Parts: sequence; C-alpha cells; structure tokens
Amino acid sequence: MMNIPLLVSSMLERAERYFPKKTVISRTSSGIVTHTYKEVGERTRRLSSALEKIGVKKGERVGTLAWNHHRHLEAYFAIPGIGAVLHTINIRLSPAHIVYIINHAEDKVLLFDEDLLPLLEKVKDQLKSVEAYVLMTDKEELPESSLEPLFHYEKLISEGDPSFEFKKDLGENDPVGMCYTSATTGNPKGVVYSHRGVVLHSMALGLADNAGLSESDIAMPVVPMFHVNAWGLPFASVWFGTTLVMPGPYFTPKILAELIDSEKVTMTAGVPTIWLGLLNELEHGNYDTSSLTRILCGGSAAPKGLIRAFESKYKIPFIHAYGMTETTPLVVLSRLKSYQNDLPEEEKLEIRSKQGSLVPLVEMKIVGANGEVANDGKEMGELLLRGNWIADEYYKDERTNEAFRDGWLYTGDVVTIDEEGVVKIVDRTKDLIKSGGEWISSVDIENALMAHDAVFEAAVIAVQHERWQERPVACVVLKDAAKEHTTKEELYEFLKPQFAKWWLPDDIIFMDEIPKTSVGKFLKRALRDQLKEHLSQVK
Ligand code: ADP
Repeated sequence: MMNIPLLVSSMLERAERYFPKKTVISRTSSGIVTHTYKEVGERTRRLSSALEKIGVKKGERVGTLAWNHHRHLEAYFAIPGIGAVLHTINIRLSPAHIVYIINHAEDKVLLFDEDLLPLLEKVKDQLKSVEAYVLMTDKEELPESSLEPLFHYEKLISEGDPSFEFKKDLGENDPVGMCYTSATTGNPKGVVYSHRGVVLHSMALGLADNAGLSESDIAMPVVPMFHVNAWGLPFASVWFGTTLVMPGPYFTPKILAELIDSEKVTMTAGVPTIWLGLLNELEHGNYDTSSLTRILCGGSAAPKGLIRAFESKYKIPFIHAYGMTETTPLVVLSRLKSYQNDLPEEEKLEIRSKQGSLVPLVEMKIVGANGEVANDGKEMGELLLRGNWIADEYYKDERTNEAFRDGWLYTGDVVTIDEEGVVKIVDRTKDLIKSGGEWISSVDIENALMAHDAVFEAAVIAVQHERWQERPVACVVLKDAAKEHTTKEELYEFLKPQFAKWWLPDDIIFMDEIPKTSVGKFLKRALRDQLKEHLSQVK
C-alpha cells in the first residue's frame, strides 16, 4: 500500500475543495460573523504566509492566547501549515504559569485576544523568546500598547498571500501542536501532538460509535480551544466539512442556549460544569434545543442526575467520555451495546454514566496491587494507556519518568472495568479517600449528591482523621430555589440507602461556590485549604 504522510494541512485542503460553501459561525466581541470554508482557507493561507514573513520557521512554536473563534481556527491550520507548532495557551492560568509556559515552550510569536493585552503588557519583560505579537481584534486600529512589535491580525493577513502553498516536506511524526496540562500541583507539563496523532484522532471522532461527527452536523465546541485542542473537534469538523459554531469570549449559559437555538446546533462538547449551567438556564428560559442530537461530556465525571435531566426532560442524548491532555484527548466513550437497548431505563443510565469503552486504536491495562485487575467492576487499579494519539513524554520535563514507563502512560486515574469492558473512573489517585484501610470514591458520593433535586454542585474531599486516617466531607452548593428549605439531614437520608454506612461523609457543608480549576473542574486542593480553616474554626 502507499504510504502518504498524514498531515493536518490536508484536512483544510479537503474543506476548501469539497465543502467551500459550508460555514464557520463565530461569535466575537462585537457580534456574530460567518465565513465559508473557502474564505477560511484563504484567510488561513494568508496567515501562514504572513507568519513566514515575520520570521517563523519550521519547528518553532507560535503561541495562541484566545477564545473559541474563527481567527483561532485559522491559527490552528496556518501555524502547522508552515511546519511550525501551534501552542495553545490556557488563558485562565495564573500569570506566573502563563509566563512559565511561554518561556518553557520558547514561543516565538504570540497571537492573542484583546482581553489578554493587559496581562501580556504586564509580563512582557519576563518573556524570553517572544519576538512579535499579533492582536486578534474586530477593531480597525490597534490600541495604544507597549508590546513591540505588535501586529493587527486583519491588516497582517490582508498583506498575506491567499494562494500560499502549505508545506508538504513534513513528516507525519513532526510536531503539530502543544498543550500544557493545567497544573494542580507544580508547574504545568507540556504535551506535544504530532500530525499523525491529530489526524488519526480526528478520524476516530468521526466513527459512528464514537462522537459520530459528520458533514451534516452543526458542531459547537464549548470546551476551549486551549484545552486539548477543544478535544480535537476543530480539526475533525474542518476535515469533514462540518458546520462549526464558535461560542467566542466570555460566553454564558444564556449565550450557549441562544446559539443552540438560533444556529440549530446538533452536537456540542464540554465539561460537566458547563452542562450544569446550561441545564439551569434551560429550566428558566424558553429555548428550542430540539436540533441537538448529542452532548459530549468529559473532563470530569458526569453526574448521573445531569445525564438523566438532559435525556428525560429535554430529550437530548448525553455521551459521557474520558480523556486527558496527554491523550489528545479521546480514549474512552460511553455508548450502549445494541443488545443493551432493551434494559430497564435505570440500568441503561447506570451503564452510560460510566466512562465507557476503549475507542479503536488505543490499548489499555488496568493494574492493581496484585497485577492486572479482574473484569468484575469491583477491583480497582490504575489505568495505563498506549496508542497512536497517546503522548510518550512530557516536553523537556523530568516528570516524564514517573508517568511514562515501559511503553505505557500511567494516567494516575484509578478505575474498574466490568465484564462488558466498560471502564469506570473511581477517582484520581490523589483524590481517593483512604478510610480505615479501605478506599472511598469521592466521585461516587459527589454524583449521588448531585442527583438530589436541591443540589447544584457537590465536591467531596478527604480530611485527616485520627482513627480512620481520612474521612470524606462533602461540600454542597444548593440550587437557589432550594436554599431556604434544604437541610443536611435531608441529604443524609437521601444518601443512606445508596452507600455503606462508613462511606457517608462525616459532614456536609453548604457553600456558595466550589472553587474550580481553569478548565472548570473542582479544585480540590483549594477546597481542602478552605476547609482546613473552616474545620479549625468549628473546633
Ligand atoms: P488537567 O489534568 O489539567 O485537569 P486534563 O483535561 O488533562 O486536564 O485532565 C485529565 C483528567 O481529568 C483525567 O486524568 C481524569 O482524572 C479526569 N477526567 C477526564 N474525563 C473524565 C471523566 N469523564 N470522568 C472522570 N474523570 C475524568
């Protein structure tokens, strides 16, 4: 058979050639703009040529600090189109981490949104490698700025070449992009994606039993383009000629609901906190969401109550998936097997609220205290992964040695696997609660609490205990309408039939908000610190 390098530029070329009329609908700071793939192709080629003129060379990193919009999409293809590396930077990280990431990746040029200007001006003297800045803005003129040299995106591309030829003298294993994991401890760790990995992962997104992304979809990636390439959806959508809806800066649940309604979005993807927010919005507003054929949810465990609410109340199928920055990200996805369709609803929900089965081309091993665990849905072990879109190291980082061993990625996630091959994430190794020598899954208690009608969000953490070593404590945010009348006792009564007695949290603490990471996951480290104060005050 022929052996043709798998390159990201060929995905955009396909869209330009075969889907020139299909569109990218982009919400920017000044409104909604629509471009056809023909236009996106031309604008991307102009950007490629402009970046070359600025001096970006093959293999060099170009950073982006941007929301989900059409210009960011153009950067997704223009940077790899000259053989350079698209480095998407998480704009919600602390300034210190952003500086660390830019210096560590040695970004040569930064493309950024206007709201990042004050931050970049503040830290510019600490940025060691950056030689030019490009502002992605709707405004006609550049603002006053101390950044030097600073280019205006639209002016820059207007001088670029619309028929620029993307570089083809690249290897499929060459780097195409990089992304740093959001650091919950220590500095962020860099993961480098290859052309080959991204192309194969995109192909997998199109499989019917996977995300089933297709030309007829209108896809809205809510997961940020700076978080594992918005789970690969921009790449795959362009390749398949899928209509893209980009929710832009500072979107709210209301904005998302309006976009779903007005643009007739068929599929969308994001972390559970986004869908909790949307659910709340749908309960209060009047939106037509009937176009949605599925919501893809991952990044942290999707509470069963959330899945139930979307499916039974709004008839929107909910697909639970699992992955990580190191895995491009999609590796496990939850769908029923054909012979399970006739099971009782609750049983089906139980299966689908697990993270699911392994997607093709990825392999796993689950290793517990006594070697590989049994497929019994009970024995717990750490999930190990390998495959064509799984990283094999952290970029210039000695933490590689801990996570990558014997050809496997050690995910740090503790899981079980049942006789159907369905994986359930029990916890992150560091969040499991060890009580009297037995493990308690914080995720299970959280999900049970979030299935209660009065509960908006719940996070469960371990607190030190003299006798039992660690005990669970639940932090609960109640829905506004339930705040006045809901009691701890009521929640305990709700949990009791569902868990062994020793699993029940030692306390349930009501809070106004649960601290979150930059990508919307519960920040348990901050919660532990917060609670330390709370518990000492109680004493
Ligand atoms: P970060 O490490 O910055 O939080 P990642 O997106 O790489 O960013 O996080 C990956 C981790 O998120 C996984 O290792 C796992 O612990 C968790 N995770 C991802 N998807 C799920 C899911 N569906 N259910 C439970 N945990 C999940």
